[in-house]
This record gives sequence, C-alpha cells and structure tokens, in this order.
Amino acid sequence: MQASLWNLVNTSVRPACVKRVVNPVLSVAQQRRYASSIDADVVVIGSGPGGYVAAIKAAQLGMKTVCVEKDPTLGGTCLNVGCIPSKSLLNNSHYYHMAHSGDLKDRGIVVENVKLDLDQLLQQKTNVVKALTSGIAGLFKKNKIEWVKGHGKITGKNQVSALTPDGSVGTTINTKNIVIATGSEVTPFPGIEVDEKQIVSSTGALSLNPVPKRLIVIGAGVIGLELGSVWQRLGSEVTAVEFMTSIGGAGIDGEVSKTLQKILGKQGLKFKLGTKVTGATKTGGEIKVSIEDAKDPSKKEELGCDVLLVCVGRRPYTNNLGLEDIGIERDEKGRIPVNNRFQTVIPNIYAIGDCIHGPMLAHKAEDEGIITVEGIAGGAVHIDYNCVPSVVYTHPEVGWVGKTEEDLKKEGIDYKVGKFPYLANSRAKTNMETDGFAKVLADSNTDKILGVHLVGPSAGELINEAVLAMEYGASAEDVARVCHAHPTCSEALREAHLAAYFGKPINF
Ligand SMILES: Cc1cc2nc3c(=O)[nH]c(=O)nc-3n(C[C@H](O)[C@H](O)[C@H](O)COP(=O)(O)OP(=O)(O)OC[C@H]3O[C@@H](n4cnc5c(N)ncnc54)[C@H](O)[C@@H]3O)c2cc1C
Repeated sequence: MQASLWNLVNTSVRPACVKRVVNPVLSVAQQRRYASSIDADVVVIGSGPGGYVAAIKAAQLGMKTVCVEKDPTLGGTCLNVGCIPSKSLLNNSHYYHMAHSGDLKDRGIVVENVKLDLDQLLQQKTNVVKALTSGIAGLFKKNKIEWVKGHGKITGKNQVSALTPDGSVGTTINTKNIVIATGSEVTPFPGIEVDEKQIVSSTGALSLNPVPKRLIVIGAGVIGLELGSVWQRLGSEVTAVEFMTSIGGAGIDGEVSKTLQKILGKQGLKFKLGTKVTGATKTGGEIKVSIEDAKDPSKKEELGCDVLLVCVGRRPYTNNLGLEDIGIERDEKGRIPVNNRFQTVIPNIYAIGDCIHGPMLAHKAEDEGIITVEGIAGGAVHIDYNCVPSVVYTHPEVGWVGKTEEDLKKEGIDYKVGKFPYLANSRAKTNMETDGFAKVLADSNTDKILGVHLVGPSAGELINEAVLAMEYGASAEDVARVCHAHPTCSEALREAHLAAYFGKPINF
C-alpha cells in the first residue's frame, strides 16, 4: 500500500511551476504588500491534530507540504488549550486529592501537611504543553514541512495567502491541493460575556489562580465534568448546571451516565440537572447566576459563585477563510460540507476535523487527516465513525465505542447485555478502585459486538481493545476466548464479553 501510494505521489502530484498572478480577491494594497511566494503540492491550513498529522503524512508520501498556522505555537486546541493541558490538571489534581482526602492513608501511606502549590501545578501543565508543541515543530523540520506563520485565507482554487496580523499578505502559496483543518472555538453563551478571569471558558479554566471557593459550571458535558473535577479536587465547591436530565453529553450510555453521576456526587460534585441558566451578573467579587427549571420556568433560583465556567460546547471555526469567495458554503451548524473523500464542492480543496461533521475529537481529526492525504495520493479513503471511541477523563474514567442501549432500542435491534462489575475484578479490588462496570452490547442473533461501555479504572486505555474488536467485526465470544493477562482490569472487559456471549461470567 505504502509503496503504491509513493509511486502515485511521485508521478501525479509533482508541484506545478505556478507563476505569480494578480489576485482578484485581494485589495490593491494587499497585492502590493506581497512579500513572498511558495509552490506546494499540499497546503494544510491549521496545525491541530487534524492539520499537523495530515501535513506529516503528506510529507511522508513525498508531497511538498506547507502548513499555515495563525497561532504562535503548533498543535491547535488539543495541545495548547484542550486535551493536553486538561489531562495534566486532571492527573495532578488526582494525586493531590489522593494525598489530601485520606485515600493514601487508607493504603498505609502517611503524608502529613499536604499543601497545594498551585503555581507549580500550573507550571507543570505549561511545561508539558511547551514540550509537546515544540515537538511538533521538530517533527515538521524532520519531515521538511514548511510552517508559514499567519492567518491562512484561500485566495483562489489553487492559492492560499498567509495574512499578517494587520491583514496584509505575508506569503502566498500556490498549491495543487488545500486541506482545511481550522478546528473549532468555544460556543458563546448568549448574554454572558467571558472575561477569562471571573467568567471563563474552558481556556480560562485551565489557568485559574487562586482556586475559586465556589465554581459554577454551565454544562455537564465531557469538558464541564473534567474541568469541574479538577477544581473540585483542588478545593472548590463545584456545581454543574445542565439543561439535559443526564450528564456526560451526547452519545453516553444512560446507565453509564447515571453511575458516573453517582460516583462524582460521592466525590463532592453537585449537579442541577434539567435546569436552564438564564443569565449571570457580576456584583462586586461575586457572580449571581439565574437559573430556572427547564420544564417549569416559574421555578426560579439564584446561585452565587466566585468563578463561572461557561462550557456549552464548541462550534466550527472558519473565520476569514475566504470560503464564500470561492463558492464553499457552510451548513446550518457552520460546518464545511465534504464528501466521503473529504472533498468540498471544489475537488482539490478538502476539510477535516472539528470544522466538518462528526464528533469533535482529536483522534477523529487525526484519522481524517491521514486518510484524506492518502486519498489525495490516490489511495482508498474509509472511516467508520461508529468505531471512534469517546473518553471522559474523570476518576474513574469513562470510555465507550459503538451503540448505546438507547440507540439499539431506537433502532429496534435485538441485543443482549453482558456486564461485569469492577468490584469483582481482582486488580481493581487490589488497587482499591472498584467503582463502575464493563458493559458489552452484542447482537442477539449473531453475537457481533455492537457497543462497549466502561466506567471504571483505566477505561480510557481499555476502550481501545473494544475498538479493535469492533473494527474487525468480532463477536462477544471472540473476545471472551482471547487470553487476557492476570491480574488486570482488562479481565473485567473479557468477563463482560463472556457474560454477553454465554450468559454468565466466571468471577461474579
Ligand atoms: C478543554 C478541552 C479538552 C479536550 N479534551 C479532549 C480529549 O481529551 N480528547 C479528544 O479527543 N479531544 C479533546 N478535545 C477536543 C479536541 O481538542 C479537538 O477535537 C481537536 O483539537 C480538533 O482538532 P482540529 O485539528 O480539527 O482543530 P484544532 O485543534 O482546533 O486546530 C485548529 C488550528 O487551526 C488554526 N487555524 C484556524 N483558522 C486558521 C487560519 N485561517 N489560518 C491559520 N490557522 C488557522 C488554529 O489556530 C488551530 O491551531 C478537548 C477540547 C477542549 C477545549
């Protein structure tokens, strides 16, 4: 496969010698300020997990590749203000909580005078972000990818202009193909203005200092639960207000959501579900948040907090990309429509990641980046969104892939359930981490695995075994008959498959 793609690239995607032309989209002043011009096979706009991975793959396949990024560091939302910094805070706040809450004491480890050094905890997060973002710059150098700094604007079917902060053109790149990987931004909450100090988005919530005494989170989706957990572990009284009647956002299995809510509730997180936030006002150092029952607006309440985290989702980011000028329209959610090869209405302009359909996840963007570029080189393009896993990095973690029970009921599919509690798993018991369960949903007639749902220790790692099984169309019996190392939490997953296929696990 790799060799044939290489041949295709070397014969069909060789850079054309493109002369500089006067561009009708740019003003005369902008034309005059043309600083330099480059030729490329592929220009990737945006260097998040979708864009940087696409750029590396393109370079590996022999294409002359340029990546235009407007931010001062590479890596996009994921590395700078998303996955990585949030996981650093989750990991280290968990250790602090273990030492502070008496968990370590129960394990025979006495730690006295436990103190939080928030500056250091935040510094560790900054250090890992710096190391990983500069790691991408290193990978770009290694793969001979040119990083053009500036705001990428598509100024022709075969041209991208990198704009400087004053809007003038810094560099013009003439290219055979364009991959749009411009990601997403925080969805604003109407009437509540984010100042990133007292009223923060997920970005501000990664750097709060000091720990707020009371934190209200609007939205109990994945990001709200993760960041709420961080600050609750570090000492905040956290209340999550959620319009829906369940937590964990779209796609989570109902039973898993209820279990997670119970576990997080025991940890101290408070939830106000089925509740609508109607406004927030700053009064002195305090914020008053007005809420009402989602079904009965006459039931109103006012909550006070020191910091308000607005966490109601993300929306595609395609500002000043020049889409309208070249005839690419966005859908009702602001996403760029693409076909199954990730081509827009203009066949040599592609789009991937958070700015198109599908779950807003880093690994989904990465996979799309790779297959899109392979497609440009003439290869096959395939992704099964049913096999894209989701993880909530709370403690314990939640991981799932495929259909939920609610989906299967709605679709009228005859399914069977295999469940195994971590309480009966020897490793979880040894590690004193027995909350949660593994649940497998399999087709009643064929035994084919349709969905796997985990809430428990290392769910974020374990779910990848389920993804592999589903990608290969495995049955519950297939996984149940695979030898799993003992003692590991993965044995709980195996037992859940055994329960789905045979009706009974061994150890419960
Ligand atoms: C707090 C938080 C936690 C998260 N945790 C996880 C997690 O644990 N796991 C997970 O899978 N996902 C997580 N996500 C989601 C994940 O970050 C995104 O799904 C992922 O980053 C999307 O990748 P992308 O490449 O599509 O876009 P992005 O990562 O958003 O990158 C887009 C890049 O394009 C640049 N750009 C935009 N427009 C232009 C332009 N015109 N010119 C030049 N550059 C431009 C931007 O500056 C940015 O660098 C989290 C998100 C947040 C906010």
